[in-house]
Amino acid sequence: MTARRGHALVIGAGVAGLLAARVLAERFDRVTLVERDELAANESVRRGVAQAWHLHGLLDRGRRIMEDLYPGFTEEAVADGATVAEVLVGTRWYVGGSRLAAGSTGLTSVIATRSLLENVLRRRTLRQRGIELLTRTTVQGLVGDAGRVRAVTVSGPAGRRTIAADLIVDAGGRGSRILPWLSEIGAEIPVEERLDVDLGYTSRFFRHRPGQLGGQASVIVSTGDNGRGGGAVRVEGERWHVTLAGMLGDHPPTDDHGFRAYAASLSAPDIHTIVAGSEPLGEAVPYRFRTAVRRRFDRQSAPPAGLVVLGDAQCAFNPLYAQGMSVAALQAAALRDCLDTDDDLPARFYAAAADAIAVAWQLAAGSDLRHPGVEGRRTVRTRLTNVFVTRVQRVAHHDPRVARTFLRVAHLVDPPAALTAPGTLRRILLS
Ligand SMILES: Cc1cc2nc3c(=O)[nH]c(=O)nc-3n(C[C@H](O)[C@H](O)[C@H](O)COP(=O)(O)OP(=O)(O)OC[C@H]3O[C@@H](n4cnc5c(N)ncnc54)[C@H](O)[C@@H]3O)c2cc1C
Repeated sequence: MTARRGHALVIGAGVAGLLAARVLAERFDRVTLVERDELAANESVRRGVAQAWHLHGLLDRGRRIMEDLYPGFTEEAVADGATVAEVLVGTRWYVGGSRLAAGSTGLTSVIATRSLLENVLRRRTLRQRGIELLTRTTVQGLVGDAGRVRAVTVSGPAGRRTIAADLIVDAGGRGSRILPWLSEIGAEIPVEERLDVDLGYTSRFFRHRPGQLGGQASVIVSTGDNGRGGGAVRVEGERWHVTLAGMLGDHPPTDDHGFRAYAASLSAPDIHTIVAGSEPLGEAVPYRFRTAVRRRFDRQSAPPAGLVVLGDAQCAFNPLYAQGMSVAALQAAALRDCLDTDDDLPARFYAAAADAIAVAWQLAAGSDLRHPGVEGRRTVRTRLTNVFVTRVQRVAHHDPRVARTFLRVAHLVDPPAALTAPGTLRRILLS
């Protein structure tokens, strides 16, 4: 590893920003994390991440990267109240109305609220030497030109000022202003790929009682043909975190009766059983997610030096597939691998990140395009893949080995090609 000196600045102390700061601290003398929100230890949901009201599944690929960056991450989350379970052993999953065959997957699920996960990541990141956190401070724009970004302007308790940095990382999330900021300095604007899903989430907490769900820690009901799905996961504080989801405008209601009725309409009964048999804690909270957006920074002809964009600011996935935090972790790992480079760091980073994003984006977009109401180009390949995936899911209902491979791909641990490896393919086609 070559030594790198200087100052890096990260916009946003969400999951992506924290992971980026952790990686940058290995190579820069100083890393400044700039966050708009006030941050309190062990807080619950804060303004800048309203999505934290809703179920956040951490895929095992993301957990493994976090464990690598913060040894003991899983144990520390458990010490804070998270539950750890092996996927399809301590958890259950319904696809197309039927349960996937139980059996060992080798996948670990850390089950907790998004706030708990973020609190652990923040605590561990700020323990790192050289990282400074500025809260209640909002980045207002970039300073530089099409060739290089040199600084950001911020407003905060100390007023309005400019902070110079050798590398600026935008991890400002889905609401990042990166496109107008690039335009203001005359830099190239990346093209966007968009998929309108008009997804609605409604979430509510319930009191957990021992023995519910057969003692298992979570149940996921994938969106069926009617575009409705949901999850119930046992989180810290002896609570069920229940999220109901509906695509294409068919959003779950927030009133008590409507919420229960929607839970009863899912293709498997478990979530409704939990909702009907548990004491509600607080009100139901809605969230509307209209469009998945992938910004193709990797296709820019000459991205400005001194700036990289990662996390939701680069690609905001349909949350149904629980990929966002894990792809943010994959991008942080890609950034770490590129930090040796000087001049073409952004281009190299975007190329490496594109590989990680592409797999997740194709899995998600492929599933979304199975719904006839989702607009998008369906190539012959997309159609054939969807026929194949339907077959995989049907076999996974009774074959634990196929269920295992299917979920290891969904958790981004194994590549999609694992499903067409000869032994697995034979089971899928001949079953
Ligand atoms: C409803 C919903 C459910 C989801 N469920 C899952 C799931 O199950 N599993 C999963 O892995 N992912 C899920 N995601 C995605 C996940 O939340 C994100 O992908 C992940 O948190 C990474 O986001 P981020 O860090 O890029 O952005 P964010 O988490 O949005 O953080 C951005 C941060 O930047 C700060 N900020 C923004 N602008 C500025 C500025 N100008 N100056 C200073 N600070 C700024 C914000 O305050 C915030 O703290 C879900 C998303 C949604 C919307």
